[in-house]
Amino acid sequence: MVMAASPRKSINTVFQRVGVYGFGGSIQKRAKYDIQGEDDIMEMEQIGAERTKNVLILMSDTGGGHRASAEAIRDAFKLEFGDQYRIIVKDVWKEYTGWPLNNMENQYKFMVKHVQLWNVAFHSTSPRWIHSLYLAAIAAFYAKEVEAGLMEYKPDIIISVHPLMQHIPLWVLKWQGLQKKVIFVTVITDLNTCHRTWFHPGVNRLYCPSDEVAKRALLDGLEESQLRVFGLPIRPSFCRAVLSKDDLRVELEMDPVLPAVLLMGGGEGMGPVKKTAKALGETLFDQELSRPIGQLIVICGRNENLANTLKSLEWKIPVKVRGFETQMVKWMGACDCIITKAGPGTITEALIRGLPIILNDYIPGQEKGNVPYVVDNGAGVFTRSPKETARIVAGWFTTKTDELTRMSENALQLAKPDAVFDIVRDIHELACQRGPMASVPYMLTSSFSELI
Ligand code: UDP
Repeated sequence: MVMAASPRKSINTVFQRVGVYGFGGSIQKRAKYDIQGEDDIMEMEQIGAERTKNVLILMSDTGGGHRASAEAIRDAFKLEFGDQYRIIVKDVWKEYTGWPLNNMENQYKFMVKHVQLWNVAFHSTSPRWIHSLYLAAIAAFYAKEVEAGLMEYKPDIIISVHPLMQHIPLWVLKWQGLQKKVIFVTVITDLNTCHRTWFHPGVNRLYCPSDEVAKRALLDGLEESQLRVFGLPIRPSFCRAVLSKDDLRVELEMDPVLPAVLLMGGGEGMGPVKKTAKALGETLFDQELSRPIGQLIVICGRNENLANTLKSLEWKIPVKVRGFETQMVKWMGACDCIITKAGPGTITEALIRGLPIILNDYIPGQEKGNVPYVVDNGAGVFTRSPKETARIVAGWFTTKTDELTRMSENALQLAKPDAVFDIVRDIHELACQRGPMASVPYMLTSSFSELI
């Protein structure tokens, strides 16, 4: 159900209402709606205390990590609580709004390909007054549509796993007078240097993947009671997998004996994957003995060009080139170390599998802090040089196996495989504290459109 947007009038009035800095708005009283009559009210189904509760997870496919976290939370809810919750994973922006919100995937892809552009966008929107202003401007156009999106799913609980999905939904709940009825939590999916739009003081809970993120949240004005540090949510099938490397290698048709390095670049196959693969192809071949000292698995994600190019090359060592894989747990379980850009999802998964990590790139801003997170905790190293990367892997596979073992132990120590279960249990507790969610009266209000 998509509502037509109403005519836009005074954006300034909206800024004042939502309390954007510089527009004279303090925390405002809830707008009074003048509901005209029964036709204007869309009464939603009355909800009984025993009924299944609706959980709406707000995400966007900007990178692969937000969807992966959303699906991890959905699966953990199912495993822990069965039919008590109905989980809906949605990109409400894409489905209900217009430009620029409905096109975030492509904008993000373009920006991270031109990293300096992304760097400027990330840092220039960091001050709270700037991003609040920007989001309020967007809300002036699309709050009605977001409201329609939220109403369609009638959530008792909203979980945001995206940095741009706090402000507008929370404003909508405020206008609906539902702040006290609907639980709103944010699950941060960046490990360290995350954008400040993640930190909205109006949330019931903010789940931080690391102490570093929790410190930033406190500095940004959140209360300690709002924060929980459980780790980054990873798919339950990943966390709970009991795998035998030997069996996996048979299943994946890998060499059973040679040590294996996994090379990837997030969901989109980004970073210096091609050059690194070529360097490994040379360095992992012992010229004197005329035999390979390791094997290489390259997972290109959705980067088909990369996969096609690598498949067309001749290799001296055993190499497997794959596209987007749905069984990352198996490939990681079959390998001995990983080379990746500093994506939080891939890093967290590698830590759970005890894989030492070579970070070879990062997206400025949100991924920059992932480098010290891995390196300072002794779980890996950082180098942008493909040749240096290949040299390190060759060392790990021959003379420096003790370093590989030590880093693997450190990785396992840093891993938080139960994070996703801790998160859903805590949300369940919040829901229990709220008491029976008997009736969440979602109505079509005049809300923002009345103001503009
Ligand atoms: N991934 C996957 N299949 C692939 C490539 C990547 O399932 O072929 C997953 C990977 O396991 C991780 C996510 O995509 O969960 C990538 O998230 P990350 O935060 O590392 O990087 P992003 O793609 O978000 O930049």
